[in-house]
Amino acid sequence: MPVVVPAGREPTALALDSAAALDRDVPGELWARVRIALRQDAGDHSFDAWLAPLALLTADGDTVRLAAPTAFAADWVTSHFADLLRRHWSAQRPAIRRVLIEVGGSAAAAAAGPAAKPAPLAAVRQTLPVDARYNFDNFVVGKSNELAYNAALAMAEPGAPGFNPLFLHGTTGLGKTHLMHAIGNAYLARHPDAKVAYLSAEKFMVEFLAAMRAKDTISFKQRLRSVDLLMIDDVQFIAGKESTQEEFFHTMNEIIGAGKRLVITADRSPQNLEGIQDRILSRMAWGLVADINPADYELRLNILHAKVSTLANRAQVPDDVIEFLARKITANVRELEGALNRVTAFALLVNKPITLEFTRETLADLLRAHEKKLTIDEIQRKVADYYGLKLTELLSERRSREVARPRQIAMYLAKKLTPRSLPEIGRRFGNRDHTTVMHAVKKVEELRGKDPEIDSDVATLARLLDG
Ligand code: ADP
Ligand code: MG
Repeated sequence: MPVVVPAGREPTALALDSAAALDRDVPGELWARVRIALRQDAGDHSFDAWLAPLALLTADGDTVRLAAPTAFAADWVTSHFADLLRRHWSAQRPAIRRVLIEVGGSAAAAAAGPAAKPAPLAAVRQTLPVDARYNFDNFVVGKSNELAYNAALAMAEPGAPGFNPLFLHGTTGLGKTHLMHAIGNAYLARHPDAKVAYLSAEKFMVEFLAAMRAKDTISFKQRLRSVDLLMIDDVQFIAGKESTQEEFFHTMNEIIGAGKRLVITADRSPQNLEGIQDRILSRMAWGLVADINPADYELRLNILHAKVSTLANRAQVPDDVIEFLARKITANVRELEGALNRVTAFALLVNKPITLEFTRETLADLLRAHEKKLTIDEIQRKVADYYGLKLTELLSERRSREVARPRQIAMYLAKKLTPRSLPEIGRRFGNRDHTTVMHAVKKVEELRGKDPEIDSDVATLARLLDG
């Protein structure tokens, strides 16, 4: 059956064993972590096509040996991914200098004998820990997310949870998945022997359907229902999927009934989750429902400062660039982070300092897409406001300076900040002639050169309108 992969998929980890119980330097565990990083860097598509089929043969001394299923795949991986593989392996274990790709798949892995301790792929998948990169310490709190943050903290507290389940909702890129992993990590830190499972609702569905086909739903049920903390991400994915919802409902009941913790996220509130069964929604409403809203300017600024301070290459990102990004990239945190990464990575690549101009150039496509269409109307209103005038006064025939000067400034801004022609602008300012607009533009340019007060007024207005 077709599996729909939602846009912006998260790195998915299914953790059914305690992370702390694992030996962090065994090759299978290192390989699991390398694979998380590879998926991030190579992207889902390349990862699934080329890297997922690789099996670990040995990791001894300075060399890692991996098996690819065919000679072609081995060649391809060697020529396209050898460097990436080597980098991530040596990040996990610095002694490693070489990664060799051999042909053979599981047969070769078996032939390598017990000394090689190959990690069977299925086992690797199940022991993937909750993603350690996301924790409470690197989650920046602001007005828009503090309710969700505090609720998440409470979910990781010892003792009986004050509410259950926790339902987090908000549009994409606002930190839902981050908070889930943070809960998992904090909970595991306090309960090293606990069983914690994180999975997307999509994965829940895919695994459930596979278990049905294999006529082995028992072990699927047991696996999930035996955990201490279950986290299911992006539950909107199973809207309209009746048999999966049936199973999901029973899983919820079992977990909550047994006093285990359940955390669920969705891209919208329970009331707005169309296609999800009422009994599931009412179960969710038993617990705490917390929303995450888009970050305001201050939070965006704080997030950028926090990210800059952790940049590996210690890139110098000046404050005006940070403020620029916080002002321009407003949609969500993922995009904000992505923009910062692009600028710092590109600066490193071309070996240039990060300036405002460099940032504008690097992000030109992104910024264009975000540019909101500024209208003459908005300009007139903002200028009238700024000078304490009524809009009708600004557009009137009055020629006294307190009105005429702001009017000229508004015309000037309309010319500079919109693509409108002089005659068009004239028409919008009480049917004035285009020569009047031209004169206003010249006049304001001249005044900016000799009157610092006017210059600063105009700059402030331009910033207000442009932001
Ligand atoms: P969602 O699951 O809501 O779509 P994610 O949790 O995947 O969003 O967040 C997208 C990216 O933004 C992640 O890299 C995450 O670490 C980061 N992020 C989101 N909110 C914050 C925050 N408040 N502080 C720090 N990083 C954040
Ligand atoms: Mg998410």
